[in-house]
Amino acid sequence: MTARRAEALSGRVVADAVAERLTARVGELPYTPRLVFVRVGEDPASVYYVRSKQRFAKRVGVDAETMVLPEAVDQATLMRTIADLNADPATDAVLVQLPLPAHLDSGPVLEAIDPGKDVDGFHPLNVGRLWSGGPAMAPCTPLGLLAILDHYDLDVHGRHVVIVGRSNLVGKPAAALFLQRHATVTLAHSRTRDLAAVVRGADVVVAAVGRAGIVTADMVRPGAVVLDVGMTRVDDRIVGDVAEDVWGVAGHMTPMPGGTGLVTVAMVLQNTLTAAERRRG
Ligand code: NAP
Repeated sequence: MTARRAEALSGRVVADAVAERLTARVGELPYTPRLVFVRVGEDPASVYYVRSKQRFAKRVGVDAETMVLPEAVDQATLMRTIADLNADPATDAVLVQLPLPAHLDSGPVLEAIDPGKDVDGFHPLNVGRLWSGGPAMAPCTPLGLLAILDHYDLDVHGRHVVIVGRSNLVGKPAAALFLQRHATVTLAHSRTRDLAAVVRGADVVVAAVGRAGIVTADMVRPGAVVLDVGMTRVDDRIVGDVAEDVWGVAGHMTPMPGGTGLVTVAMVLQNTLTAAERRRG
């Protein structure tokens, strides 16, 4: 096994610190913020993700409820459910767990969520505000990357951040957030020529592809910060996009598991508090 040199950026440590801060913030509010998850069907990954977010909510004192709709629910019923949650003054935050079953169209669903309650940050108004400046709700995984860097005092100002993956969920919003922090940002993707050369130019590498071990030691500049977002199930293990040998080259690196995923969950609750505070003043 490769001797470890990189310092581990522990998602658990960061999530614990966020939990402490959020618990204190909730304690100062004259009300209990309320978050509602909408889950359609029983997809095991969705059940797992919603459960971990609900557990984190309980930990910080946020009231969280999961509405479970049957797998066969029609689009109109789902849209009505969201409209009701938008109109409910006691509900501060609404999160529709993705992916939805194939017969449902997620686009109109995400656009139906009140942008002020949209703690996933997928509503076009939040996406636009994220890029143009303004009080956006930013997506949780990219926000978590900043939370990790902040916790470990790693400044990206003027640094070259290479993000591999350009999804609306991770890559693109991460690019917007890193630009706000004055990083120089490159977004790489499946059509990028000579990915290795592009990644070698990075001070900070964000791997958000979903292909186990696609980022290897020969692609990483010695001492670089490596943030592994990818999660692929291999046999009964969850494996990241970053190969094990990168520990021998990177300066700082997130483990997988125990890295970015835990902080993503914490950011859902951070956004819930932000939504509640903005809405209720
Ligand atoms: P996605 O929508 O499938 O996007 C994957 C991206 O990777 C695309 O932009 C794609 O390029 C790019 N890509 C595919 N093959 C590539 C290659 N050979 N070289 C370079 N780029 C390549 O996935 P996602 O929703 O962003 O999720 C990415 C991964 O992160 C998944 O494993 C997911 O499970 C994980 N994830 C983790 C967290 C967390 O909290 N840690 C949260 C969300 C997602 P094109 O655009 O050209 O197709």
